[in-house]
Amino acid sequence: MLRLTNTRTGRKETFHPAVPGLVRMYVCGPTVYDDCHIGHGRSFVVFDVLKRYLTLLGNHVCHVQNFTDIDERIADKARELGEDPFALSTRYITSYHTDMDWLGVVRASFYPRTSEHIDDCVELAQRLTTSGHSYAVDGDVFLARSATTGLTDLTRQSLEQVLCGTAQPINPHKRDPLDFAIWKGGADWGVSWSSPWGRGHPGWHTECAAMACAYLGPSLDLHGGGMDLIYPHHDSEGKIAEAASGVPFSSCWLHNGFVTMDSVKMSKSRGNFVSLRELRSGGWHDQVVDPSALRLLLLSTTYRSTVAFTAVGLALATRQLDRVRAAWQRLAAPAGITGPQDGVICALTPGFLTALDADLDSGQAIRVLLEVSSLVLEAPTLGPAAHEAARGLLQEAGQILGLALAAGGAIPAPPVPPPPAGTLLGRRPLAQRLAPDTDGAQGKPQVAQP
Ligand SMILES: [Zn+2]
Repeated sequence: MLRLTNTRTGRKETFHPAVPGLVRMYVCGPTVYDDCHIGHGRSFVVFDVLKRYLTLLGNHVCHVQNFTDIDERIADKARELGEDPFALSTRYITSYHTDMDWLGVVRASFYPRTSEHIDDCVELAQRLTTSGHSYAVDGDVFLARSATTGLTDLTRQSLEQVLCGTAQPINPHKRDPLDFAIWKGGADWGVSWSSPWGRGHPGWHTECAAMACAYLGPSLDLHGGGMDLIYPHHDSEGKIAEAASGVPFSSCWLHNGFVTMDSVKMSKSRGNFVSLRELRSGGWHDQVVDPSALRLLLLSTTYRSTVAFTAVGLALATRQLDRVRAAWQRLAAPAGITGPQDGVICALTPGFLTALDADLDSGQAIRVLLEVSSLVLEAPTLGPAAHEAARGLLQEAGQILGLALAAGGAIPAPPVPPPPAGTLLGRRPLAQRLAPDTDGAQGKPQVAQP
């Protein structure tokens, strides 16, 4: 039984998708104005491993990950370069796919772009205004905190604690300091769309709520992202979706920890980052990094902990990967007679999946993989049971952790089971985005056959 730490409750909970065999997962994607760095890579690798494991457990994972292609930083950079902002964001979306393909991240089912969902955002804001959850002032639309009692609360903090962390000056149009904009009036950075409130653009939290519901309906099984997105982004996104639909938005919220470099969180704003482009092209320490080794390093702790990116850590992960590959090569030979390590190998191998079941503890799973690999390499002979157990473990580890078991080989992935019959796939008609129990309803955009 897979158990995951749900940010909403702060507890480890057994994970059950609402529809057996189908997992509806939304992960917040990048704002596309630059290359991805290792910190981004860690987040996408973590959710990739979760998806791979859920797939191996027999689920069809409908995975939606957005690209935020509307942002002040995109507009600023485009102006600086004299480039069209959408040409610039498209260029970085291509770069994102090149990075993630190199890193062996299985592609999402859908990659919606914010600019393609403006109508959905306007519709959402209109619905919330009609229902009395939000109010418009001078072209801005705010969600009223007083109307969100009982909805998603990921902060689990008192009002005073939340306000304490508010560094921004408070917008005088707000009735309550904790009301937040779901539509922002004005063309403050040169890109705007018409709306019932005048020209403007959606708020970031509205965008993700609109895109998640457009592809997955009002109720998700999993919503993921980095820990820095918990508040205000995910907290607000959950409130918007739940206020609009009247049903719980995501059953489980999962957040991954940061990557540090020189003990400081890796981030573009601090300037302490290494891009994935540098790693894959030999631009970092004049070495071309093996993507499987980088994955091993990024997965060396539990997903909620911090990972330090260092040259020493990457070198260690590369040596560990070499041992796993050597063990895999040895296991290509047929089993022999029973040897002294057989009993230990057979006893250790179930620990790999047990570790993943315990809140996706990839660090512990890797320790089991390394121990079994070492035993395989040291064993004078391996009997059929130990040979099969070790081979099965390495194969499973390759598919779940995303490790190429031969140098230069492709990163394998588990076979994807078909979605349950009647599953809605693709962009949903408006009427089916916020209404509960839309799976199996009329007018499906695309229906999977049994
Ligand atoms: Zn988001």
